[in-house]
Amino acid sequence: MQEKGRSEEEVLKRLFEASRGDWKYSDGKILSSMCTSPHPFAKRVYELFSDTNLGDAGLFKGTKGLENEAVNMLGSLLGKRDASGFILSGGTEANIMGLWIARNMKQRKNPEIIAPETAHFSIEKAADVLGLKLIKAEIKEHCVDVSDVKSKVNENTVAIVGIAGSTEYGTIDDIEALSRIAIKKDVFLHVDAAFGGLVIPFLKELGYEARGFDFSIDGVSSITVDPHKMGLVAIPSGCILLRDEGLLKSIETISPYLTEKRQYTLTGTRPGASAATVYAILSLLGREGYRENVKRCMELTMTLYEELKKLGLQVIRPTMNILVFSHENQDAISKRLSDGGWSISRTTKGEIRLVIMPHVTGESINAFIGDLEEILPLV
Ligand code: PLP
Repeated sequence: MQEKGRSEEEVLKRLFEASRGDWKYSDGKILSSMCTSPHPFAKRVYELFSDTNLGDAGLFKGTKGLENEAVNMLGSLLGKRDASGFILSGGTEANIMGLWIARNMKQRKNPEIIAPETAHFSIEKAADVLGLKLIKAEIKEHCVDVSDVKSKVNENTVAIVGIAGSTEYGTIDDIEALSRIAIKKDVFLHVDAAFGGLVIPFLKELGYEARGFDFSIDGVSSITVDPHKMGLVAIPSGCILLRDEGLLKSIETISPYLTEKRQYTLTGTRPGASAATVYAILSLLGREGYRENVKRCMELTMTLYEELKKLGLQVIRPTMNILVFSHENQDAISKRLSDGGWSISRTTKGEIRLVIMPHVTGESINAFIGDLEEILPLV
């Protein structure tokens, strides 16, 4: 660090220069990200609350109230108005919290969790951090094979993880069936709906097929949902929802020098700005606004799906706004798309994966199809 501070102009110059090195959602060429431009109102609210700390919630009772209201709104969307929970940094932290609670509630000597092979890598991180043995369950048609889960539950199992909106394919596991196993075997069922939590509730209303996944299913103990994905909220904002507030006792930590003497989150100092922003955008948009958001993304996804099929590509019928296609020369296609300025991603198997987020427009879809039409005869 230099001895003397620089002028704001100088610092801004460097900031703008750095920002020019970043991709911009507004260019419409990012088809790989599960995040998007936050709603303009989110940016204003974030700034207003940028000095609030929910790690010392006794000082910020007003903001803590907003966090509670945000959690209630997400809870009511996901089948339980009185769900308990917190606004966190994202899906990784929420998954760690869900599994931390499961581990402490069950108190097994050699704790294990069972998660689908399709689970996001944050589940691996959670298992590693929490000292849980991760048992991977097999996949059938991109969803967890429930009979494999059943066969893997044993006396060490503390939790089953189900996915509602898998990262690579957007598929939804059979949470009802997982719930039956969880209840019968008395284990925790954590649902990772980081992406799907703000998509699936609207799919059915819009006439798309979608499985149930939320607290209306009895065995579901906790749900991860990320407002910084399809929620149009600023990064960072994830959320852990718990069926029962009593579960928190299992991770209680004494925080003697703070205004509140007990903490129930992994992080200490926590941005109240995230909680206020989640509250603000959920309130501003309401169910209607989010339904419209999902409608737009799904219409573009289905248009792209039909166009990709017309081009002779093997496309998986999308469950939500994630499209995956394959081709014998997919490496060459992928390289040419990247060279052409598109940010696309690949699945573990190498298929090409596109996420149609709110920043994607009809124009960018047309431009993408146009580029693919030119590329395909060349590969
Ligand atoms: N869970 C799922 C299903 C995800 O798709 C992701 C991220 O894409 C995560 C968890 C992790 O979320 P974050 O990157 O916000 O920590």
